[in-house]
Amino acid sequence: MQLTHYSRVAIVGGGPSGSLTAFFLLEMAKDLGIHLNVEIYEPAQFSAPGPKGCNHCGGVISETLMQMLAMEGINLPPGVVQRGVDSYRLHTDYGAVSITTPLDEMRIASLYRGAGPLNCKACTAQDPGQRVSYQSFDGFLLERAVAKGAVVHPNRVTRVSREGTLPKVHAKGMGERAFDLVVGAVGVNNNGLAIFDPSALSFRHPTTTKAFVTEIHLGREGVLRHFGSTMHVFLVRLPRVDFAAVIPKGEYVTVVMLGRDLDKDLAMQFLTHPLVKNCFPAEVDLTPHACMCRPEVCLGAADPPFSDRVVLVGDAAVSRLYKDGNGAAYRTAKALATTALIYGISRQDFARHYRPVCRKLDWDNTIGKAVFLTVDLFKHLPFLSRGMLRMVTQEQNLSAQQRDMSMVLWDTFTGSNSYASILSRTVHPAFLGRLAWESLNALLGKGVA
Ligand SMILES: Cc1cc2nc3c(=O)[nH]c(=O)nc-3n(C[C@H](O)[C@H](O)[C@H](O)COP(=O)(O)OP(=O)(O)OC[C@H]3O[C@@H](n4cnc5c(N)ncnc54)[C@H](O)[C@@H]3O)c2cc1C
Repeated sequence: MQLTHYSRVAIVGGGPSGSLTAFFLLEMAKDLGIHLNVEIYEPAQFSAPGPKGCNHCGGVISETLMQMLAMEGINLPPGVVQRGVDSYRLHTDYGAVSITTPLDEMRIASLYRGAGPLNCKACTAQDPGQRVSYQSFDGFLLERAVAKGAVVHPNRVTRVSREGTLPKVHAKGMGERAFDLVVGAVGVNNNGLAIFDPSALSFRHPTTTKAFVTEIHLGREGVLRHFGSTMHVFLVRLPRVDFAAVIPKGEYVTVVMLGRDLDKDLAMQFLTHPLVKNCFPAEVDLTPHACMCRPEVCLGAADPPFSDRVVLVGDAAVSRLYKDGNGAAYRTAKALATTALIYGISRQDFARHYRPVCRKLDWDNTIGKAVFLTVDLFKHLPFLSRGMLRMVTQEQNLSAQQRDMSMVLWDTFTGSNSYASILSRTVHPAFLGRLAWESLNALLGKGVA
């Protein structure tokens, strides 16, 4: 089972993992002298503001992903990047500290997956020829895939089945068509995983939980004055909330809450928390109203994410816990394209060459869960929180390489490094010794600064 000249590939879903899979397949095929027909099914309208074009996300792109995309020749244009974030302010119930990008040249980007929030007037061009500064990240990646030769169908796929050896795609308004390879890039929202008939792919779905996202309008000036290029991260004691972030963008800030089974009541508790209210101008209404959603966020991986000629990618297969899901989409898309073109498209090929990449991400998420259990401990033990804050404060006078706690916190909340790397740095005796010393000082009543 190999992809050869004029093989037909269907990609169901044109989010980051679908578009990047098409991009890599077409680019690698060209290098190998193979002509592939790649078709992407994507019903979302990425040029529309609000839910029609949005794939529900905080919109933080890690510096690692920015660099990896740049190496592929994919540079995010100014209309896509809403803001370059170079620092964050960490708020706890026991004090707050600012953490700047550890290595000064690094920056993360904030952006929208669609063309901005619902009811956003600035998001659509009012006059013909006017440049719109709210361009969709997903739309931009889809255009890169089309530029490589992919064809996009704006049709929803209702079923993927198999008769004989080839998988078949059934799409609304297009009937049923057979392909040599079907890639499921459907994510974990929109009930996309339900389309797979067991004859095509029998698998355990990835485990998920409900997150919460809302947009708050402050105007461009208001965002600059109150947030600038700083993201705010909150580790506050609220049930089921692991952490929350306020991310500055063009005229809005995006509020993202991650944890277990979050709902609007809990979001209200968070938004009316004094630490959160203090970050906003007093007159702003923080009730989530215009643009808000409770998307599913990945906790565990699909198993197995493949069969003969059918394979899952991105969130549908595996993601990264609470961060850099788009980075996971990039990694799985590249591994999948390499496997399909170099080794083959049988179950055994995917098991041998694609599964290790998914397993590595899944294993890192297991470590991530332990990291967040530790974070929870910090939330409930004031002396540990204060010890952590004391460490960060003192590190501000040190060189970037010596800012151990700041680097660990930066990587935990921005997704710029793996959880395994974070864990290995935190179990170092020197790190633990410093934390113990600063926590002892906090216990003895010494302040954070
Ligand atoms: C609250 C929250 C905050 C997040 N914050 C961040 C963050 O700040 N940074 C980050 O990197 N990641 C973040 N993520 C994770 C990130 O959103 C995902 O990892 C990423 O979107 C995965 O891309 P994907 O292409 O696999 O899936 P998706 O982005 O979900 O795309 C799936 C696509 O498939 C299409 N589709 C579904 N079903 C069908 C069908 N039947 N037929 C045709 N098309 C179909 C959908 O329309 C959609 O466009 C966040 C996630 C959540 C829930």
